[in-house]
Amino acid sequence: MAKDFLKGIKDEYDVVVIGSGLAGMTSANILGRAGHRVLLLEQHYKLGGLATWFLRPGGHTFDISLHGFPHGMIKSCRRYWSRDIADRIVQLKNIRFDNPQFSLTTSFNRDDFTRLLTNQFGIAEPTVNEFFDAARGMNFYDDQSTTTRQLFDRFFPGRDDVVRLLMEPITYANGSTLEDPAITYGIVFSNFMSKGVFIYEGGTDDLITRMKKELTANGVDIRINCPVDEIEVSENALHGPRVAAVNVRGRRIPCRAVVSNANLRTTILKMIGPEKLDRDFVEQTQAVRLNNSSTQVYMALKPGEEIDESSGDLFFTSTSKEFRTDLLLSRDITSRTFSFYYPRTRPTKKERYAIVSSTNANWSDWADLNPEEYEASKQDLVETTIDALEKYIPGVRNKIDRAEAATPRTFQHYTLHESGASFGTKFEGLAVSRALSQQVRGMYHAGSVGIIMSGWLGAINYGVIVSNEVDQLLVSETSPV
Ligand SMILES: Cc1cc2nc3c(=O)[nH]c(=O)nc-3n(C[C@H](O)[C@H](O)[C@H](O)COP(=O)(O)OP(=O)(O)OC[C@H]3O[C@@H](n4cnc5c(N)ncnc54)[C@H](O)[C@@H]3O)c2cc1C
Repeated sequence: MAKDFLKGIKDEYDVVVIGSGLAGMTSANILGRAGHRVLLLEQHYKLGGLATWFLRPGGHTFDISLHGFPHGMIKSCRRYWSRDIADRIVQLKNIRFDNPQFSLTTSFNRDDFTRLLTNQFGIAEPTVNEFFDAARGMNFYDDQSTTTRQLFDRFFPGRDDVVRLLMEPITYANGSTLEDPAITYGIVFSNFMSKGVFIYEGGTDDLITRMKKELTANGVDIRINCPVDEIEVSENALHGPRVAAVNVRGRRIPCRAVVSNANLRTTILKMIGPEKLDRDFVEQTQAVRLNNSSTQVYMALKPGEEIDESSGDLFFTSTSKEFRTDLLLSRDITSRTFSFYYPRTRPTKKERYAIVSSTNANWSDWADLNPEEYEASKQDLVETTIDALEKYIPGVRNKIDRAEAATPRTFQHYTLHESGASFGTKFEGLAVSRALSQQVRGMYHAGSVGIIMSGWLGAINYGVIVSNEVDQLLVSETSPV
């Protein structure tokens, strides 16, 4: 008989959270902690969404998205998860760049960037300070028509090299381009510049294991292998449309609220369905552009082989003469960001070294390849990446035990994100995500959208914001008026 993945669940819930990415798990944790009856449903066999990892023979563990996040993660994890988790967050001190325009090492914070911009790039210090202050002063309510390109032109006209230093890591971190609203750049850049780049010591597997423990302690029912097909909406005479239930594995689970951590467009256009929503809202949703996807190459060194720490923690490399965001996405790869994982990443595990190379990518370059072309392209990606790495670590090819690639198709397969989107949606997705609860009472979305709410910190913080709204709704409906 087929396994019942929903075995033991309650007959109904206050909240069903669809998807266990960082935003979904954070919402579930806060709502469970507040005493609501919460069910977390994940379609994959593992929790974490894009915050994930995989194991390979030989004691190798590869992290997919543990490359760096801002210092703000410590506070968010302490408040909304546990001190245990927050205390494992450590700084990456050695961030490197190498491209035809410059080579440098930095601790990636305001002081060090000021030093570099004045000493190495020859920019006047007052200009640098004004730029940092302008970026830090940006918020969601600012003018949204100024683009990041216009912001750079205002402070550093004609300085492609400066733009590259300031923009390349952020493009890598959330797929944003020079054409996106400047506020998306300003907020994310300033978050990193406050204190530098941080990482979770223990690896993604340790983090997600601790989060799962916390969820369980807070009474959240968790079920994996449970893809939600439909979010049922009923007409309510008093409030108009409202969430009634979710349908999963042929079963209807009544609930008072839903937080969907699944892709925004999929949530609205497929799981709820356009016929239940205002036409304008549906059109607005259809116009939301997805953010780009990624390719990665995972390389593990043979037991006993080492990488010198001088290789750095995070290494932005490019062979392109100039900085162009379209080149960062091109199949003809010129830019690779290498993350070096030393044994200190997993201090309690076997002593292993790994390198993950990441590159932003277009879904369309990979979507239609036939099986042979796809396999050949993946192999080519692995080989050309190892060649590129040889430039920095001569002889590394002979030290590698395993190497394999992930493509936009891999990301789509594991998360169901349309077009394998790695960083949610472009800016316009944020307004749609925020407006969903006005369309359907009790229906919320929390997950990577609008560039600002993307990445580990953005996703967690968005989960916090949305869980507070859900809590208010649930409490207001049970409190006597
Ligand atoms: C290659 C790569 C590198 C990255 N590097 C970094 C980095 O260094 N630093 C950083 O901060 N961020 C990084 N990111 C981005 C970061 O990982 C994501 O922004 C963040 O983890 C997304 O969290 P989320 O809550 O939006 O949900 P997601 O992680 O997108 O998870 C959504 C979840 O919903 C589930 N789901 C979907 N549909 C259904 C359904 N119908 N029913 C049930 N479940 C469903 C999915 O299976 C998934 O578990 C990277 C991303 C990629 C792809």
